[in-house]
Amino acid sequence: MIAHDGMFIDGAWRPASGTDTIEVLNPADESVLGTVPAGTADDVDAAVRAARAALPAWAATPPARRAEYLTALRDALAERGEEIARTVVAELGSTVGFARAVHAGLPVAVTGSYAELAASFAFEERIGNSTVFHEPVGVVGAITPWNYPLHQIVAKVAPALAAGCTVVLKPAEDTPLTARLFAECVAVAGLPAGVFNLVTGLGPVAGQALAEHEDVDLVSFTGSTAVGRRIGAIAGGAVKRVALELGGKSACVVLPGADLPKAVGATVADVCRNSGQSCNALTRLLVHADHYEEAVALAAEAVAPYVPGDPGDPATRLGPVVSGRQRDRVRGYIEKGVEEGARLVTGGPEAPEGRDKGHWVRPTVFADVTPEMTIAQEEIFGPVVSIMKYRDEEEALRIANGTVYGLGGAVWAADESTAVAFARRMDTGQIDINGGRYNLRAPFGGYKQSGVGRELGEHGLAEYLQTKSLQF
Ligand code: NAD
Repeated sequence: MIAHDGMFIDGAWRPASGTDTIEVLNPADESVLGTVPAGTADDVDAAVRAARAALPAWAATPPARRAEYLTALRDALAERGEEIARTVVAELGSTVGFARAVHAGLPVAVTGSYAELAASFAFEERIGNSTVFHEPVGVVGAITPWNYPLHQIVAKVAPALAAGCTVVLKPAEDTPLTARLFAECVAVAGLPAGVFNLVTGLGPVAGQALAEHEDVDLVSFTGSTAVGRRIGAIAGGAVKRVALELGGKSACVVLPGADLPKAVGATVADVCRNSGQSCNALTRLLVHADHYEEAVALAAEAVAPYVPGDPGDPATRLGPVVSGRQRDRVRGYIEKGVEEGARLVTGGPEAPEGRDKGHWVRPTVFADVTPEMTIAQEEIFGPVVSIMKYRDEEEALRIANGTVYGLGGAVWAADESTAVAFARRMDTGQIDINGGRYNLRAPFGGYKQSGVGRELGEHGLAEYLQTKSLQF
């Protein structure tokens, strides 16, 4: 248990303005890992002032030089990879293999991709008789969730820095230790003081103060749709730029003729990944009536190896969920599914055997889920898959598009062109075709209430730029 003090402001660890702290718990056994300061509006103000002061010089730094800083940051993240992975295991409960490959590994790759983009992007272009300059938006307020604690930070900070913006980050209160490691890497990389600042704290206090701060030019938020709506309203009132990455209820549509065992196996693995705490998790599996019972049996088989266990043990496939709040929420949805008449194939709302302490849930498969059920409409954010039946493609499309969300999706078909044609009709931002692999340069973001704006790649960079055109 370590009492961390200070916040990273203006290039150094500085004492917090208040004395309140936040306890960080290990979700596997509820032990206290440490405490971090609970930042106040004064801390946010100090960080925003530092970011504002650093902006002119950083914005004027040649992009090729900014790229060098990002390369140094990438190297610092890579150097601390094992420590980052172990920290994510401890405060999130991610399984260690996934933590190494994704929680620690993906941010290294994303930071590297923005180092390359900073060096290659055309920040100036000639259009007819105009020269168009792509200039940094200014001071960015970044507010991030706990489910991918480092990736969500890097998906905002790396493109913001590449664009020439300066940043104040308010990370999730459940996973601030990973955010502190990120700030240490920024220091090691030698970024100029004030270019990146970290304020830990509670959402309604430090998060809200950051969103409301009049000297923040752009708020980039990832989290729940409920909070995203508030942030959007604040930004709208102040006419400042806003990017929102929100919830999802993504569908995997298996069309007749597809490789059913592969499709079902991939979907179950996707939903169990990160204990179901992925905003784009394929939580609705849509299968044609003729293959429905076969799919249900395959799903029950596929979920069996996901036995909840010690996330630090490399053999474990499923860790706990992040918090008691999240555990109660997931179990509540499972109870609701049973109440509303879905068929519980495996799993259930009880604690997994022998796991009374810690934030555990059973991996759960529901069949006979119909579109109006709560578990077919609301984001559960746990290892729960709902298998739904359709009779023809039009019905499959209606079900797939029939939620307020539109973040991820998947289509499986006998051939790629059939799958692509179906995917083009889905109201969602990112769709994997026949098991298509994750692409960290492809735009990521939502249709409908899943959000506004895009992250990653060149589209992610564009969020942090504004254009000026000169006619001559
Ligand atoms: P949350 O909305 O409660 O919190 C997200 C962040 O917002 C945290 O840093 C929190 O402190 C802060 N916050 C809370 N209230 C605030 C307020 N009033 N003003 C300013 N900031 C505030 O969400 P969560 O429970 O941490 O994360 C889970 C949710 O995030 C899920 O719904 C999930 O789908 C969504 N999510 C979306 C994406 C995406 O890319 N679209 C990625 C990850 C998570």
